[in-house]
Amino acid sequence: MAYITLKNINKIYPNGYHAVHDFNIEIEKGEFIVFVGPSGCGKSTTLRMIAGLEDISNGDFLINGNRANELGPREREVAMVFQSYALYPQMTVFDNIAFGLTLQGVDEEVIEQRVKKTAAILGLTDYLDRLPRALSGGQRQRVAIGRAIIRKVGIFLMDEPLSNLDAKQRVTMRSEIAQIHKETGATTIYVTHDQTEAMTLADRIVVMKDGYVQQIGTPYELYFNPVNVFVAGFIGEPPMNFIRGTVKDGKIHFGENVLDLNAMPGTDLKSYEGKEIIFGFRPEGIELGKHDNAYHVSAQVELTEMLGDNTNVYITTGEDKAILKVDPHDTPELDETIEFSIPFEHVYLFDAETESRVK
Ligand code: ADP
Repeated sequence: MAYITLKNINKIYPNGYHAVHDFNIEIEKGEFIVFVGPSGCGKSTTLRMIAGLEDISNGDFLINGNRANELGPREREVAMVFQSYALYPQMTVFDNIAFGLTLQGVDEEVIEQRVKKTAAILGLTDYLDRLPRALSGGQRQRVAIGRAIIRKVGIFLMDEPLSNLDAKQRVTMRSEIAQIHKETGATTIYVTHDQTEAMTLADRIVVMKDGYVQQIGTPYELYFNPVNVFVAGFIGEPPMNFIRGTVKDGKIHFGENVLDLNAMPGTDLKSYEGKEIIFGFRPEGIELGKHDNAYHVSAQVELTEMLGDNTNVYITTGEDKAILKVDPHDTPELDETIEFSIPFEHVYLFDAETESRVK
């Protein structure tokens, strides 16, 4: 049986706004689940319904198979880490981490033991006597996490916990969160708008848009098998290139290039004749030069960005534009005309009307 189940969960706010539509998922014990999507898509609302901080308008929320819709936050055995660390400024790191246990009247010796263990996991052992103002942003966030994990609850909820950190701290803290999850094994639900955070942390990702779940899957599944244009464009950086074209005699135009869609093995696009289709390929899914079993494209180089491990090449052909990721040693010249290949297996086709993947 799943540890946590959301069955057709809906949220309609008192002002009538329908923020979450029929959210369904079964979460196993120990899983690290990430809700990702643009701002306003309903991630926090869903997390807050799981936390018991927001009423569930419709649907069933189950813990260990038992309906838990009506349970208060404390009875749900959840701990939540928010964007703002909300530490008590006048309390030491030790007291901040111990706070929840102190309130519960837990024995002092037990508290000391558990604070020390938690601090060790979080690398805070040397900071227990400090006040929050004498800590870096990353250390403060670790204290906030410590305060949550010390409670040994079943479900650990995090709402954009890294958004107040600078870029470098975010990367460090991200790997620390992964490490903490490995050590504690706590079932974690994590909200972010950042696809890199989602890809690096999650066992499974839930991609949301406008209150609707678009796809649930492992990072691998979402990257290699996106179900629609939104997921394909959201996962991956730079995002997937999309070329729109009307199918004529099985072909579409990519700027000055003609792409014969029937050349790909296993495609049957008869029903798309005369209709618009979206042709997608990832910046990293190309090879310079002409190769077999691929579309051959020629295009002009508009801009290059050398990033060290790769170069982003912005190309144009006719009215169409795309970004290619190439080896930095192969960086082309500006205005150069280059030839590249899009291997058939790296092509994603979508119905232009529904934006669903064409299989
Ligand atoms: P996310 O976490 O993905 O950024 P939220 O879950 O915070 O999105 O919000 C989802 C939508 O619900 C947004 O359009 C937001 O404006 C709306 N919303 C959030 N809280 C309330 C509220 N208390 N009353 C009405 N609408 C709300």
